[in-house]
Amino acid sequence: AEMREARVRKTKTVCTYCGVGCSFDVWTKDRKILKVEPRMEAPANQISTCVKGKFGWDFVNSSERLVKPLVRKEDRFVHVEWEEALDLVAGRLDEIRESHGPDAIACIASSKCTNEENYLMQKFARSVIGTNNIDNCSRYCQSPATWAMRNTMGYGGDSGSITDIARADLVVVIGANPAESHPVLSTRIRRAQKMRGQKLLVGDIRKNDLAARADLWVKPAPGTDLVWLAAVSNILLDRGWHDEAFVDRWVEGLSDWKESLAPYTVEYAEEITGVSRTELERVARMIRDADRVCFLWAMGVTQHTGGSETSAAICNLALATGQVGRPGTGVYPLRGHNNVQGAGDFGCAPDLLPGYQSVADESIRKKFAQAWGKELPTGPGYDNFTMIEKIHEGDLKALILKGEEIALVDANAGHVTRALEKLDFLVVQEVFLSETAKYADVVLPASPSLEKEGTFTNTERRIQRLSRVLSPLGDSRPDWEILVDLANRMGADWNYSHPKEILEEAVTLTDLMAGVTWERLDGYQSLQWPVHFDGSDTPLLYTDGFPRPGAKARFLPVSWTEPLRFSEEYDLHLNNGRMLEHFHEGNMTQRVPGLEEKVPKTYVEISPDLARERQISEGAQVRLVSPWGAVKLRAVVTDRVQGKELYIPMNDAGEGAINRLTGSHHDKHTRTPAYKELSVRMEVLNRS
Ligand code: SF4
Repeated sequence: AEMREARVRKTKTVCTYCGVGCSFDVWTKDRKILKVEPRMEAPANQISTCVKGKFGWDFVNSSERLVKPLVRKEDRFVHVEWEEALDLVAGRLDEIRESHGPDAIACIASSKCTNEENYLMQKFARSVIGTNNIDNCSRYCQSPATWAMRNTMGYGGDSGSITDIARADLVVVIGANPAESHPVLSTRIRRAQKMRGQKLLVGDIRKNDLAARADLWVKPAPGTDLVWLAAVSNILLDRGWHDEAFVDRWVEGLSDWKESLAPYTVEYAEEITGVSRTELERVARMIRDADRVCFLWAMGVTQHTGGSETSAAICNLALATGQVGRPGTGVYPLRGHNNVQGAGDFGCAPDLLPGYQSVADESIRKKFAQAWGKELPTGPGYDNFTMIEKIHEGDLKALILKGEEIALVDANAGHVTRALEKLDFLVVQEVFLSETAKYADVVLPASPSLEKEGTFTNTERRIQRLSRVLSPLGDSRPDWEILVDLANRMGADWNYSHPKEILEEAVTLTDLMAGVTWERLDGYQSLQWPVHFDGSDTPLLYTDGFPRPGAKARFLPVSWTEPLRFSEEYDLHLNNGRMLEHFHEGNMTQRVPGLEEKVPKTYVEISPDLARERQISEGAQVRLVSPWGAVKLRAVVTDRVQGKELYIPMNDAGEGAINRLTGSHHDKHTRTPAYKELSVRMEVLNRS
């Protein structure tokens, strides 16, 4: 019994599946995961988890895990020892830098990796390679929201906490599906609805779970959110229903914003969006009548050619109505991956160093150069989108990528994989032989979150520590260790022996995190940035002004970018998103037998009207064709979608992978792909 006791352990970790950042104890016996036990003191979730957090972990013991480095030799992978793999990577990168310059190399960090690993990767790019070519996957999702918040309010993070959302009198959810993408957060909303009569207003083209439960569901035409939001803003301003005192005291740019709103009359909004005058007025009244309002949004807003400006329209609306800086209010772009927030916070961006400090600022560069003992590159680097273009143009020769599945996740997958084929040298740090890793010259086996220590930052800017539940499987290693060894082979002198030391270095360079220490994050303790020297943190931002000139926020003038129109041949709009049981492209959850059995294959949702028109029924096989590719799927007939709208979950890595269909069009300010702006035609292969 004593032996058994010793082998049974319980370890605290933080979930790797979404930005809610649930934390819990994981019970293990040797490598077997016995159970996941959420605890009351878990700051984001208390005793809740969703199905992924509770049951989504068996992939760590999958026989498909990479347990030894792989090197491509004569067109096939062979197992090698770490020494050989790392020598090869360092040697090839040195050669490429020598002959083509540092900007011929780029790095892509991962929002599934820890803050410490992301900090090291941007330090590796900047101080070892000598390039600002570093980005992360928030480019695919929430960069437009970050752009809007930074340009209106100042900070690129949710303005409050999940408890504020639960405390609000009205929650406005636009282009987001929290019930499947952020399940525990959605449970909080449902509970507040039930227990306190919290009102819920949803703007979405699909009748998702929250839309079905909303007090008001507004269903605009695809890609027209900015128009109905601007019309609602006009109603509020025209009738004096905005918060004049707040605007006078705290916000500048009212007249320019008002001017930019002029075209978006109620009549125009009715025509363009299909949302009626009655509904627009009801939205305005609901916002007026609520004392505390939280605005939530996600990819249904951001992944459009006008994603940044629609995000700005939401921020403007929150400012105009004084719905920031008080408990129960605020703006909340829901971060997708568990550490999207942290990857940006810790400097994995081509123009920003850790703490959102600009690479263009000489004094900032000097501070980092002193700490790192290396002059830093000055100009902004390539973002993810530009990296692919630069590979095609022949300027970018090598890519180092950790934990990102760009062959499936980037828009216009064919264009991306052709770029990967063109590279002189591709290094991938991964847990499985992902689709992207199949193009690599060297694959370095990395450890998933359960096998490492470090910190993650969730959607509410909350930094939490994860402890090591299991030892790394086989010869796999945490990404930070891989980066340290690689950097030292390329002339660096990095002596980190634990993520704690990396965190300590990062926070000394970042005012935003000044008071963060490893010890202050012990157990279930957490800190929400900004964290001051004395260790006090900031669950609610903007209680006393904005981190901008004169402590004032500003309204950003807005203008609608019409969604890309396709030729008439492509007559159906195709939307896509997450499903509850699977995470993203499925590399992890599709290797968890319990989850895979539940929803083994992806599908396309078709409205009853369209099914009738095309004479197809549930289970029919269809082929969707866009200007960029085609996929084959099974039809599910449901009133979650209406008319000529289709929806597919984005979790298929095979014949139904969404990015076989998407194009390269993108948000104009941030180059986030416009995944949601897509038209297709449908061919019926088999009617039932
Ligand atoms: Fe994990 Fe998100 Fe589910 Fe929480 S809600 S258990 S963070 S996937």
